[in-house]
Amino acid sequence: MNELIFVQPVFHGKLWGGRRLETDFGYELPEGPVGECWAISAHPNGDCHIAGGPWDGYTLSQLWTEHRELFGNVEGDQFPLLIKILDAQDDLSIQVHPDDAYAYEHENGSLGKRECWYILDAREGGDIVVGQRAANREEFARMVDEGRWDDLLNRVPIAKGDFFQIDPGTVHAILGGTLVLETQQSSDVTYRVYDFDRRQPDGTLRELHIQQAQDVVDFDVKAPESGSVTTPEVDGVTHLVETPNYAVDRVVVRTDAPVTIAQPWPFLNVSVVEGSGTVEAGGKTFDLPKGTHFVAPVESGDLAFAGDMELVISHL
Ligand code: ZN
Repeated sequence: MNELIFVQPVFHGKLWGGRRLETDFGYELPEGPVGECWAISAHPNGDCHIAGGPWDGYTLSQLWTEHRELFGNVEGDQFPLLIKILDAQDDLSIQVHPDDAYAYEHENGSLGKRECWYILDAREGGDIVVGQRAANREEFARMVDEGRWDDLLNRVPIAKGDFFQIDPGTVHAILGGTLVLETQQSSDVTYRVYDFDRRQPDGTLRELHIQQAQDVVDFDVKAPESGSVTTPEVDGVTHLVETPNYAVDRVVVRTDAPVTIAQPWPFLNVSVVEGSGTVEAGGKTFDLPKGTHFVAPVESGDLAFAGDMELVISHL
């Protein structure tokens, strides 16, 4: 029986970030605006340490490399997923990510980036950018050139509990006042299309990548109109999405309705995004305050959750 692997988040200061990772999640943050909590990550730009248990002090990438048996011996030279919490006090830049093939060829063998967002909180009347309206590369280039952002970008109203799947080639941006739990491929390749002409503290503009963006935008995809979740909740579990890279579920645990989840996967990522409770696995019980993240390795046994909390879980 393998013990649950609790990981410590890595934080990234961002111009567009805020302090809600401290006020809402109780994390100890570095100073200044913090935009990203890399909650479950083995990416070189933010490799989480394991806290407690038999692997205390290891990094997740080290575990992946040296103890692949914990992850069902799945193949791949890097832990394939990356779980983040984003605190967007201001708008993020308008961006698009490549798929695996394009990233491999143009970004030193990197993975592409498929991502998805579970909206943890949104401001009244808040929205988000998902998709674009140009029919082809030429029209896209013209609209960018002329700065017709309102015509080009598809804005969707958002509310707490919404969910968006962002495939590679989809133009997107999280806008101010939004807290998001992001599940994505472990990649850091972003092509910036527009940054609202904002200046950094040193007076410079952030670099744009219009050429690469035009290469990777998928002009055949229809932009969504809403992010509301329509799949039914069964025994506390709502399937949010299944893609070639990951599947993501929401789990709602109530004091009068504990939830037990089987763990038949090579590994399962679990994040406590609201409330608190406990999990019992392999005869051991662990406290789960809000903001806890763990990986249930292969053969960790069923996960018996109790308390009053909401989880986002993901697996390959
Ligand atoms: Zn993105």
